[in-house]
Amino acid sequence: MATVQSATGPIDTAELGFTLMHEHVRVGWPAMYQQYPELFDRDEEIERAVTRLRAAKDAGVQSIVDLTPIDLGRDATLIAEVSRRSGVNVIVATGFYYSIPFHFLMRTNDEMTALMVRDITEGISTTGVRASVIKCATEPELTEINERVLRASARAARQTGVPVCTHTYPANRTGLDQQRVLKEEGLDLGRTVIGHSDDSEDITYLEEIIENGSYCGMDRIGIPRPRTSEQRADMVAKLVEKGYAERITLSHDSCCNFHWAPPGLIDTAVPSWRLTHLALDVIPMLRERGVSDAAIHTMTVENPRRLFENSSLH
Ligand SMILES: [Zn+2]
Repeated sequence: MATVQSATGPIDTAELGFTLMHEHVRVGWPAMYQQYPELFDRDEEIERAVTRLRAAKDAGVQSIVDLTPIDLGRDATLIAEVSRRSGVNVIVATGFYYSIPFHFLMRTNDEMTALMVRDITEGISTTGVRASVIKCATEPELTEINERVLRASARAARQTGVPVCTHTYPANRTGLDQQRVLKEEGLDLGRTVIGHSDDSEDITYLEEIIENGSYCGMDRIGIPRPRTSEQRADMVAKLVEKGYAERITLSHDSCCNFHWAPPGLIDTAVPSWRLTHLALDVIPMLRERGVSDAAIHTMTVENPRRLFENSSLH
C-alpha cells in the first residue's frame, strides 16, 4: 500500500479519489495577520472553508491539494481542522511564491532546501502536519532570485520524492523556463505539474510542456479571464484528443478565504470560481466535447494518485 501524508496524517493513495490538484483553503498576505490581527476572524474562516469543502464533497470531490506557499499565509493547523471537519483530504504544500523571498537574500539556497525538506520529512513547525508537495512560482518572468528558489525546490523534491507543482505566467511561457531550471537540477519532469497552463491559448506551448515530460496543470478553470471555462474545456478536449490525458491535471485555483479582495466580492463578481465548478459544470462540457469518462477518470483520479504514489517518503 502506498501512502501519502495529508493534513490529517498518512492516507492510502487509493483513498485520494477525485482530486483537485491546485486549490487554497486560505490565501492572504501574512504581514496583515501579524500587524492587524483584529481584521481576521479565524473561526469564521474555518466555517466558510468547511462549508465550501462539504459542498465540494457532495459534488464528488474527495481530495484537494492546497498549494498555498509559505509567504501567502499557509496555515497547516487551520487546513487540518478544515479537512477533519469537512471529510475532504487535503495535501499541504511547502515552498515559495514569486515574490522576492527577502529572508534568503543573503542566505544560501541550501538553507531554503533544508527548510522545505524539514516541512516534508518532520512536519511544519510544531503542527505535526507534514507537507507532501512543493509549490513554486514564476511571474512575470524568471529572475535571478526566482531561479534560486526553483533550484532549491528541485533539490528538496529530489531529496524527498514529493512532486513539484508550479504557478506560471503562460503569456511569457515561464513554464518552459521552470522546466529548464528544474531539469538542470536533475529533477525528473514526470514529477512536476506546470500550473496555470490553461491560461494559454497556444496549444504548441502546452504540447511542448507535455513533450518535455511534465504534467500540464489546467488548473484555473472558472476564472473567466484570460479564458472562459468553455475555452478552457475546448483546450482540454483538444489535448485529450491528441492522446495527452495521462499528462493533464484539472483544478480551479480557487480560495475558500481570499483576503486579496473584500469579503464577498469574488463570490459576486466571479461566481464560477469555486470548488464545485469542475465537477458540476465543466465535466459535462468535456463530455459534450467528446472526452470519454475514462479520460476524465485519468485526469481527475489516476494522474493525482500517480504523482503522489511515486514519493520515496511514506
Ligand atoms: Zn494558486
